[in-house]
Amino acid sequence: MKLNTYDYLIVGSGLFGAVFAHEATKAGKKCLVIDKRNHAGGNVYCKEMEGINVHQYGAHIFHTNDKEIWDYVNQFAEFNRYTNSPVANYNGELYNLPFNMNTFYRLWGTKTPEEAKKRIEEQIADLHITEPKNLEEQALKLVGTDIYEKLIKHYTEKQWGRKATELPAFIIKRLPVRFTYDNNYFNDKYQGIPVGGYNKIIEGLLEGIEVRLDTDFFANREELSLLADKIVFTGKIDEYYNYQFGELEYRSLQFETEVVDTENYQGNAVINYTDPETPYTRIIEHKHFEFGTQPKTVVTKEYSLQAAKGVEPYYPINDENNTSILKKYQALAKEETNVIFGGRLAEYKYYDMHQVVGSALVKAKRELGTEKDAVVLNEAV
Ligand code: FAD
Ligand code: UDP
Repeated sequence: MKLNTYDYLIVGSGLFGAVFAHEATKAGKKCLVIDKRNHAGGNVYCKEMEGINVHQYGAHIFHTNDKEIWDYVNQFAEFNRYTNSPVANYNGELYNLPFNMNTFYRLWGTKTPEEAKKRIEEQIADLHITEPKNLEEQALKLVGTDIYEKLIKHYTEKQWGRKATELPAFIIKRLPVRFTYDNNYFNDKYQGIPVGGYNKIIEGLLEGIEVRLDTDFFANREELSLLADKIVFTGKIDEYYNYQFGELEYRSLQFETEVVDTENYQGNAVINYTDPETPYTRIIEHKHFEFGTQPKTVVTKEYSLQAAKGVEPYYPINDENNTSILKKYQALAKEETNVIFGGRLAEYKYYDMHQVVGSALVKAKRELGTEKDAVVLNEAV
């Protein structure tokens, strides 16, 4: 028997769950948010160490082209002017990212866009790639063999644990290729880090809403489901359906974080290690996200590994096999009348934060019947 204490039980307090809960509460609905972790915020959660906001689940840089989404998150925190400009370390050689005129100059000594384009064209002339079928072909088509070998192939294979020929092309299309001297990793109009960390945004979104931490939906599924009219589920969709069509695969990450007794360890927030020998993919120095001047620093080495039961899932692996399993779960999800699925895990989509915020706003407005107030969220879905 339904107890109907709440209108919505929201499983997961990450950005999707928090935005949905905020919108529903604003519309007069009563929400209960649960999370199996001991903190709210999902993967954007920051932990303070040595006065520095440490991005506990990997570096998070907010970026979007959509003014409505930018204004939405700015309601909860002010953003600084941080621009992501990672550096790649390939066996001790340093290159600017994303691939741009600085990278080409360092690699080939080319000084004009024409020279750089010619180099790339020469390198791929014999390959005859018209429609790239996988990440390797896409990368070669975009930047040629030298950059592929030094900056893409090994990083990608470490990150994803499989050959670049077995990965979808879209993954590499996330990165800009530019024939200007511009090291900005993103093309978006708006970019920054919330002053005071991402927790400020989550706290703002969840203000006045009941949140129960250390509460796993699956440990108490029936009882929790009875509490509300509807469920908003942001956990793994395959787990929701008891893995009946098999498990969706994920890449996971292991973070090794340490305090270093120096003011400035590597001179940049993000350094990627693109050679095959270095076991980690990148080192994050958190203070640089907020131009920190603390006397010590905190750095995190990021290792990539296959997710297994009990290991946190991070990146959906959108290959053919997983996509066909996903379709079966989506067919079940479509039939649900009282469950809304959303976010990186429930949609099994390689979403960035702005896309999750956009998607949660669209779904909340559709659900709550406030569509007429809906802004145009171009990038959302
Ligand atoms: P999550 O943040 O994963 O939240 C889901 C929540 O549900 C979690 O708190 C989890 O504990 C909870 N949950 C799951 N199952 C259950 C259950 N059974 N019971 C109770 N609770 C449950 N995006 C950017 O825009 N810029 C970046 O620079 C960027 N960097 C990233 C770096 C890394 C390493 C990763 C992994 C992601 C990055 N992202 C970045 C993406 C960003 O993290 C996501 O888009 C966003 O945080 C997803 O929000 P979500 O609510 O969908 O999921
Ligand atoms: N990539 C690469 N070399 C780099 C950085 C990224 O080959 O130095 C590739 C890699 O395949 C990665 C993808 O580009 O998975 C997307 O990179 P991004 O930095 O967007 O990944 P995320 O921050 O989501 O981990």
